[in-house]
Amino acid sequence: MALNESSLLRLREVVGPDQFSTGISNLSLHAKDESFHTPHLPDVVIWPRSTEDVSRIMKICSEDEIPVTPWGAGTSLEGNPIPVRGGVVIDLQQMNEILRIRENDLQVDVQAGVLFKDLNKRLARYGLFCPPDPGASATIGGMVANNASGIRAIKYGATKDLIQKLTVVLADGKVIQPGTLAFKTSSGLDLCRLFAGSEGILGIITEITLRLVGIPPEFLSSVVSFSTTEAASLTISQIIRSGLAPAALELISTNCVLLINKYTEDFNFPESPLVFIEFHGSSKEGLAADLELVRELCKDNGATRFEAGIGRQARSKLWEARYNLHDFILREHPGLEPMAIDTAVPISKLPDIVAYAEEITKSRGVIGYVFGHAGSGNIHMPMMGDPNDKASWSVLEEINHKLVEYAISLGGTATGEHGVGIGKIQFMELEHGKSLEIMHRIKNLFDPKGILNPGKMF
Ligand SMILES: Cc1cc2nc3c(=O)[nH]c(=O)nc-3n(C[C@H](O)[C@H](O)[C@H](O)COP(=O)(O)OP(=O)(O)OC[C@H]3O[C@@H](n4cnc5c(N)ncnc54)[C@H](O)[C@@H]3O)c2cc1C
Repeated sequence: MALNESSLLRLREVVGPDQFSTGISNLSLHAKDESFHTPHLPDVVIWPRSTEDVSRIMKICSEDEIPVTPWGAGTSLEGNPIPVRGGVVIDLQQMNEILRIRENDLQVDVQAGVLFKDLNKRLARYGLFCPPDPGASATIGGMVANNASGIRAIKYGATKDLIQKLTVVLADGKVIQPGTLAFKTSSGLDLCRLFAGSEGILGIITEITLRLVGIPPEFLSSVVSFSTTEAASLTISQIIRSGLAPAALELISTNCVLLINKYTEDFNFPESPLVFIEFHGSSKEGLAADLELVRELCKDNGATRFEAGIGRQARSKLWEARYNLHDFILREHPGLEPMAIDTAVPISKLPDIVAYAEEITKSRGVIGYVFGHAGSGNIHMPMMGDPNDKASWSVLEEINHKLVEYAISLGGTATGEHGVGIGKIQFMELEHGKSLEIMHRIKNLFDPKGILNPGKMF
């Protein structure tokens, strides 16, 4: 596989001169995502503006067997869009049109490069929103490709749960449109969900129809301290079992609380685990009843402090600290980089995985911050270190390995939402066993020449 002068010339003819670059600054901007994984330069970056552009690019790359890596906003955390074999990066950010808002169907058609924050700003006028929120400024295409989720997945699901229909350019340039605009279907194999989480190895997604949700009129938020992680985790599982429908249940470990207390004005919680809770409802009265139930449950499990508020303002104030946690961690360790661990386990196993993470970092003298979307069993732990210091960085890698293996042994997964990329390839066999062989065959069916995001997932 090589990108020679004649392939470059053919590719250059597909798009305008301002949509094609071999300049080192553009190549560098597409060599690395937000992870610690080793960067790799592509040979060329192309910014298509239509499905037809992408199809023509793919026909040439297929004929000349050139590696192609799709690129959304590059906010991945496992090296997912790093073009490890060079070749072409297709950056979809100029395909950023919101094509149609069909408010009566609660659906929107977008091009893949639309940023979800921009989409939600537009949708707010219609009283609608797209719930998955990966925190970073990601594109809808990148969110589908990584099956991103975030804080509110417990109520609204991950991105895959909201896909109605896709337009996808296959490795040989053919265009398919799997899915339906109907809310339910039993028709055929579900290719939309096959592309969700496929990280660009099966095709380039150019358009997406998403199912939307009405913006809830009222919010209830609370922040609760517990003396142990066990008590916090048990409360989380009881809230879910009690028939309440939480929109977010976040667990924050003690050392995260120390940072939040340090960097947030008027935030001074006990130095012990915290749970952030959110409910969405149609009336203040309904939420007030939920609040009493939650308060009881927390009290029964030994909550040491309980703060709550109803309404948008109370919610912003209480949640601000949670949203800023990532920045606080970086601020606390200037010059160091995070190795971000992302695993998920059945919710009954939360105390085990959190205790293991805290124990193993402590015993190895490593700084790790455990927090996560605990209502979905999803735990993150950024560990701070210097990637240039090989000896100490290898300790972080070892902890990462042990923690992920432990999560899988508990019936969990190597990645709850960040995807496989480069970092999680090593766990695919352990997690998937014989199913991995079927995944290989599916990859070969879609991409027999192996040109789409090569070096990833398998
Ligand atoms: C601070 C921070 C916090 C984060 N928090 C969360 C979180 O809470 N939850 C969460 O889920 N994620 C989180 N993420 C990870 C990241 O934001 C998501 O995975 C996001 O979906 C990536 O989108 P992107 O547009 O940046 O895609 P990219 O990173 O550019 O690409 C993602 C993958 O999809 C492929 N791809 C991109 N576009 C397409 C396309 N159109 N067609 C086919 N393949 C494509 C790429 O090749 C790559 O493999 C976080 C990241 C950061 C930096």
